[in-house]
Amino acid sequence: MFDSLQERLSGVFDKLTRRGALSEADVTAALREVRVALLEADVALPVVKDFIDGVREKAVGQEVLRSVTPGQMVVKVVHDHLVETLGATSVGLDLRASAPVGIMLVGLQGSGKTTSCAKIARRLQERERKKVLMASLDVRRPAAQEQLKVLGEQAGVATLRIVPGEPPVAIAKRAMQSGALEGYDVVMLDTAGRLAIDEELMAEVAAVRDAAKPHESLLVADAMTGQDAVTVADAFKQRVDLTGIVLTRVDGDARGGAALSMRAVTGCPIKLIGVGEKLDALEDFHPDRVASRILGMGDVVSLVEKAAETIEQDEAEKLAKKLQKGTFDLDDFAKQLQQMQKMGGLSSLMGMLPGMSGSQMQQLKKAKLDDGMVKRQLAVLSSMTPGERKKPDVIKASRKQRIAKGSGTTVQEVNKLLKQHKDATRMMKRVHKMGKKGMLRGGLP
Ligand code: GDP
Repeated sequence: MFDSLQERLSGVFDKLTRRGALSEADVTAALREVRVALLEADVALPVVKDFIDGVREKAVGQEVLRSVTPGQMVVKVVHDHLVETLGATSVGLDLRASAPVGIMLVGLQGSGKTTSCAKIARRLQERERKKVLMASLDVRRPAAQEQLKVLGEQAGVATLRIVPGEPPVAIAKRAMQSGALEGYDVVMLDTAGRLAIDEELMAEVAAVRDAAKPHESLLVADAMTGQDAVTVADAFKQRVDLTGIVLTRVDGDARGGAALSMRAVTGCPIKLIGVGEKLDALEDFHPDRVASRILGMGDVVSLVEKAAETIEQDEAEKLAKKLQKGTFDLDDFAKQLQQMQKMGGLSSLMGMLPGMSGSQMQQLKKAKLDDGMVKRQLAVLSSMTPGERKKPDVIKASRKQRIAKGSGTTVQEVNKLLKQHKDATRMMKRVHKMGKKGMLRGGLP
């Protein structure tokens, strides 16, 4: 398991008690962790270096939002830069050319070229009502042309008649001609792959490109290839004017680094991703989702964004003062639950407090609240008298039964809530002490 960048950075910033703008030294310390996180996500080395330089430029001097930690601020800067590098929005296939529009697929053998060819054809037919013809130019692997034909039958897409012994360039020309004569909107050319980049392959791909003049030249690349991705992408980019990338096996890759490498090296948008072996396992590429995956931080970024919007400072400061005095009663607890409902969970909120250790975070993750539970807890709280909410200790067994009945819950749930309130009070006191000098950073719910 990789540590999430969030956890790494909270370590870096634990010692940091100041507020204000991020200094060069803060950022340098944080970027060391970012570098490791990117390498663990299998982003290629030269890409990591450029990326880090870009983030440094943006992060130094950034004002830290009142309600978040410096670590989270850096994560946000890194995330935004990632999204920007990956391409801010998703870009689809470009079919704006006179019919038949040629789409050529290139890539190494086993990268998922043939499968992607059928997936794309199927999608164009079903979603965009295009009439598509597919042709395999792989004359070296004996079964390759047959494989595309079988996939075409499964997908309900036409394939070019196989003529034994015909060379790739001739097949490409015949495919474009048939496409024009028979009224196809799109002709897909599935070129031959190799186990590794070689000159013969590159020359063949370039010749096919010159003969067929495809409107889209897509590099199909396996997301699991990691560091090698750069070499492959670079080689194809040199010889073919790539217009986009199809990243396959994204379903098996939890790290997402190849996407960043490919995009950075080729400068081409990732247009589609393969997420399984089935013919419908093809999706649009969403840069923001991949960015979150690379950083391994789930929803932290949106939380920071929400925090910036939602937290009412006055309310937070009032609660912080009550905590200091140890007068955090059940009315406050109810307020906290309501705010949590808005912001999505105790664990994420507590993560915003400085001085939380990894194990405390783990504990809190376990305590994650779902919406239904919060609603029931609020019902329990509203079934209590104001006096009971001020001094929960006075609630005896018989009252618990009545409260449970009144709120449509059980005595166990009432007990659980009371215990949670106690735990929360204790935990917050502890965090508060650790945070020193009252630096609750305004992030307290
Ligand atoms: P080609 O040699 O580049 O034409 O590769 P193929 O299309 O024959 O694919 C090789 C293998 O990868 C096949 O078993 C495919 O089913 C599988 N494959 C292709 N794309 C994906 C994908 O997105 N996810 C997964 N899990 N498998 C894929």
